[in-house]
Amino acid sequence: MKQGIEEKRIIIAIDGPAASGKSTTARKVAQRLGYTYIDTGAMYRSVTLKVLRQGLLDDIRRSPESVSDLLQDISIRFDGDRVLLNGDDVTTEIRENRVSREVSFISSLKPVRDRLREMQQELGRQRGVVMDGRDIGTVVFPDAELKIFLVADSRERAKRRYAELIAKRSDGAELPDLDALENEIKIRDNADAERALAPLKKHVDAHEIDTSDLTIERQVERVLDLALDILQDCR
Ligand code: C5P
Repeated sequence: MKQGIEEKRIIIAIDGPAASGKSTTARKVAQRLGYTYIDTGAMYRSVTLKVLRQGLLDDIRRSPESVSDLLQDISIRFDGDRVLLNGDDVTTEIRENRVSREVSFISSLKPVRDRLREMQQELGRQRGVVMDGRDIGTVVFPDAELKIFLVADSRERAKRRYAELIAKRSDGAELPDLDALENEIKIRDNADAERALAPLKKHVDAHEIDTSDLTIERQVERVLDLALDILQDCR
């Protein structure tokens, strides 16, 4: 890297649908630039887990504004790759299916979005962050110097999820079903794109990258090239 580039710290927003490669790409780009990586999906998943743990899902469905009570004493922190919900390590639990099934509903609620947007803006205040999600370039950091929108064919995304589940599968556990995974991904994408508040959508200035046929290394290189162009221009 040329001298001086490392002094300028920008915000890189990476948005896109489920399993499009956002988190792996964002984490590696952050490592290469010495930036902080923030997984905002993990934050929405943490709120959803808290709702489930407290058995409040039905109450919140009946009266959505009641979710505000639960947000009062919530703390979500990142410690390296670990996610801490009120001090409790929830890194694995937030990836469970029961959380994935309900997270689009919980993330459509205004008090949840308002609270998490504030936290995310605070986390990025010093810049030098790579943040991934659905509305980072459009709502959380519309002034992000670099906005990326990752897309990939839904079958390809289901295959990636399948491979992840197989890798983590314990002996004797049931095999995941590829069609069912693709269906779940499509349902979540529709819910995220159709909601009224901060829907999943590409910012006009975002660079769209289709990752269907790209390796992770290529995805990372594409984003890094764009970032380095901006950092050089900033000198
Ligand atoms: O990124 P991940 O798939 O873990 O995100 C889980 C869910 O969190 C998404 O399906 C979406 O409902 C919600 N989300 C969001 N806004 C973000 C990040 C995630 O609404 N910025």
